[in-house]
Amino acid sequence: MKVKVNKDACIGCGACVSICPEVFVFNDEGYAEVIADNVKEEYEEKVTEAIESCPTEAISEIKEND
Ligand code: SF4
Repeated sequence: MKVKVNKDACIGCGACVSICPEVFVFNDEGYAEVIADNVKEEYEEKVTEAIESCPTEAISEIKEND
């Protein structure tokens, strides 16, 4: 699975970073950024939780055929 953060939508609340720091980190501007291009299977559940927890729906899954 692959995910991306829409920088225009992220408000820097930190939910994704605390749920799955292996995939999401804060950048210098205080917004979330994806550090893992391909999310390892072991983190997929947490990433899905992060997607559902994001208050602004800034995180989305990148489908293979996008
Ligand atoms: S949960 Fe959403 S709004 Fe909060 S830091 Fe992550 S991407 Fe940004």
